[in-house]
Amino acid sequence: MAVSASSLVTDPHEFSALLDLPYAQVAAVHARYPLRVSRYFLELAKQHGAPLLRQIVPDPLELQDIATPADPLDEENLSPTPCLIHKYPDRAVLLVSRQCASYCRFCTRKRKVGTEEMVISPALLEAAIDYIRTTPAIVDVLISGGDPFMLSDQHLEHILSRVRAIPSVRIIRIGTRMPCMLPERITASLAKMLSRFHPLYLNLHFNHPAELTDEACRACALLADAGIPLGAQTVLLRGVNDSAEVLKELLYRLLAARVKPYYLFQADQSRGTSHFRTTIECGQAIMQQLLGNVSGMALPTYALDTPDGGGKIPLGPNYVQELGNECTFHTYTGKQGVYPNTLWPEEGESL
Ligand SMILES: *Cc1c(COP(=O)(O)O)cnc(C)c1O
Ligand code: SF4
Repeated sequence: MAVSASSLVTDPHEFSALLDLPYAQVAAVHARYPLRVSRYFLELAKQHGAPLLRQIVPDPLELQDIATPADPLDEENLSPTPCLIHKYPDRAVLLVSRQCASYCRFCTRKRKVGTEEMVISPALLEAAIDYIRTTPAIVDVLISGGDPFMLSDQHLEHILSRVRAIPSVRIIRIGTRMPCMLPERITASLAKMLSRFHPLYLNLHFNHPAELTDEACRACALLADAGIPLGAQTVLLRGVNDSAEVLKELLYRLLAARVKPYYLFQADQSRGTSHFRTTIECGQAIMQQLLGNVSGMALPTYALDTPDGGGKIPLGPNYVQELGNECTFHTYTGKQGVYPNTLWPEEGESL
């Protein structure tokens, strides 16, 4: 393992003592769902309070949320082999690690990340890589888990080489929360190793501006300096970042760290995480306050990963009101406007 166990807190006794929580509460949730936080993020969360603590502290509400589906995105049925999710025609997710440096309480894959349910073995990884090799329609491979940076550099390098050797694979993406949760894992040698697999993209995961510490920004800089384009995914979370002011600061801090905001996800309907979901009106109102008022470079796509494996859809808000011979719309300040919606010369006439 590339991450030393001493940098992580996993014992419920130690966890409750460090955060001054009732042991019984931590232990009850821990009996059902995995528990872990990096010492680094634990200290940060103690400084900044609820928005960070909510992401890592087990909540009794997790145990009460039993009617919600465990696998809302139908990922298990979309897996032709256990370590691969093939939902869209041209891209697939390769699951390479079941562990993370911290277990987010709102994790969409809470049903298996950090548990015995998630089985990843050299043979299963080989089977997944074989599937990619024999399915040339897949041109974009997303390496995920868990957190792929929980693997050693050598192990990850081996997987990357195997994927890169497939001629039909055009781009590789890695999804990781390590710059946020354990920035010290991002070393110059890791960045250098990754840079041998271009075109390689990294999608980071940040939810709150306080997560962009000096250490996190240094980790992002190491990766950006290795020529790796950095994107960020953020989950809209009740009591964490469900306000335009908080998100605006997060988005600007990401851009300053050379990370391009990519998606703002509506929280998935995943068992044990329902207390994190906002309404869609809340997300749309936030996007409406951001659009036009912050740099377009900072704006992510607000999206929902639709239940039952339907894929992601943008959730707007929509500025177009009517389409006919004219397009009527309202601007970000609420002003009405019109734009012609016909061809001139008409179709069939010579240009
Ligand atoms: C999100 C996701 C992708 C990638 O979607 P993009 O919109 O291309 O970023 C691919 N496969 C699965 C299963 C996903 O959940
Ligand atoms: S880092 Fe990602 S995969 Fe790991 S627990 Fe958090 S949301 Fe889930």
